[in-house]
Amino acid sequence: MATCEVCGNDYWMAFEVRTVSGDVHTFDSFECAAHRLAPICEHCQVKVLGHGVEVSGRFFCCGHCARAQAGSQGAEIRDAVGARPA
Ligand SMILES: [Zn+2]
Ligand SMILES: [Zn+2]
Repeated sequence: MATCEVCGNDYWMAFEVRTVSGDVHTFDSFECAAHRLAPICEHCQVKVLGHGVEVSGRFFCCGHCARAQAGSQGAEIRDAVGARPA
């Protein structure tokens, strides 16, 4: 048994997440893991749960937000390239 560090639930299926810094966190759910660990888009403040984009160490949820906030490097970010169906 292990206790979630976000909500305090003692749950038999609690799991650990090891971050790039080597820190180990314990959660009872992906929701609590995202609450604690997911980066937050600098432009619109949503939690980045998918891949998102990183520009010089700054996190954004999508290309639009990177372009809006991250200067000339952000301007290079695209979510999609090419034609869409007419
Ligand atoms: Zn929890
Ligand atoms: Zn965003």
